[in-house]
Amino acid sequence: MTAIPPPLLVLGTTNAGKLRELTLLLEPLGIACRSLADEPLAVEVEETGTSFAENAALKASLQARALGAWVLAEDSGLVVPALGGAPGIFSARFAGAGNGDGRADERNNALLLERLARHRDADRAAHYACHAALADPSGAIVATAEGVCGGLLAEAPQGAGGFGYDPLFIVPEYHRTFGDLAPDVKSVISHRGRAMRAIIPAIVRHLAPRPR
Ligand code: IMP
Repeated sequence: MTAIPPPLLVLGTTNAGKLRELTLLLEPLGIACRSLADEPLAVEVEETGTSFAENAALKASLQARALGAWVLAEDSGLVVPALGGAPGIFSARFAGAGNGDGRADERNNALLLERLARHRDADRAAHYACHAALADPSGAIVATAEGVCGGLLAEAPQGAGGFGYDPLFIVPEYHRTFGDLAPDVKSVISHRGRAMRAIIPAIVRHLAPRPR
């Protein structure tokens, strides 16, 4: 009897922080996840959409078509109403180019604090948003989902966990930043955790091995 290989899902990102969190959420499903870094045929996708939803769909669809594989992509970011919604879809490149590396994160956090300091009495409320899209190997989007997580922005970075804006993002229920909270706590309450739990039924429907 030949063993049936586990279904393969390519995670449409090279951001190390996102990959860690997505793997933590998806591995228990018994689906083999690969990152774009393991895919020589992966293409550079320009994020030309005007919303998280459009960018997530673009990333999923174009990579799926290039690879001929199922792709789960997401677009996410921090939204600060007092700054007119910035950094929003430009979260990764708020202070210039770079995606997910520690230096870019530090520059983005410094710029965010500087912008808030310019508005002395600025409301420090913020939320993270995540839009996810699942594309089949032809590039067709077969499922989408979104998740949101509300918080407050700290005056200075706290904690070394998470990635991106996490050291500044205070989760009110815990009085701590995502930089301070454990990964499994973030996984339960974060925008990404919520979006993934909403799209998992579709992933299972299309990809999970069925018992014979
Ligand atoms: P994307 O790769 O274009 O979706 O941009 C995502 C960017 O949003 C990241 O590089 C971070 O700056 C920010 N971001 C998204 N999710 C998180 C998170 O969970 N924690 C911290 N920053 C995040």
